[in-house]
Amino acid sequence: MIELPKLPYEMNALEPNISAKTVEFHYTKHHQGYVNKLNGLIEGTEYANKSLEEIIKTSEGGIFNNAAQVWNHTFYWEGFSANPQKEPTGKLAEMINAKWGSFEKLKEEFSNAAAGLFGSAWAWLVIDESGELKIVGTSNAGTPLTTAEKPLLTADVWEHAYYLDYQNLRPSYLANFWNLVDWKKIEERL
Ligand code: MN
Repeated sequence: MIELPKLPYEMNALEPNISAKTVEFHYTKHHQGYVNKLNGLIEGTEYANKSLEEIIKTSEGGIFNNAAQVWNHTFYWEGFSANPQKEPTGKLAEMINAKWGSFEKLKEEFSNAAAGLFGSAWAWLVIDESGELKIVGTSNAGTPLTTAEKPLLTADVWEHAYYLDYQNLRPSYLANFWNLVDWKKIEERL
């Protein structure tokens, strides 16, 4: 039985960048919905007693899609806070500067990549096998968890993540996304 992790802040904590209404729908309908659907699908199967990570790495089809969506959303919520550390520091800041020249440039490249993903997708900042930072996109429920890449940050760019607040304006959602990312939490994932 997989449980929905508690949201690490109040539903209105991300306002005005993401409204309480969007958080409420996204967390209690979508995220909870994936948890419920997954539990229905794994009941009585070999997956019933596996961890979420194990399910993601060993399944396909509907079980994979719902399990990966549960994990991706938890990772997304946990990258934000009501009082975020607005910029990376220490080793991560050094890695970003080495790769992109500046934090501003990373934000620009990530936002452009995320805005350009077709349809329902996720944008990620990851560390690849050689230890280098990289921006990647995944479609639908795709997740770096099934690759050798280590995820540090994600932006949910499914329309349900921003439509109530920004309608079809994904770039506006992404511009405000940076006001919420807590780089202290991202640094802890290194
Ligand atoms: Mn979502």
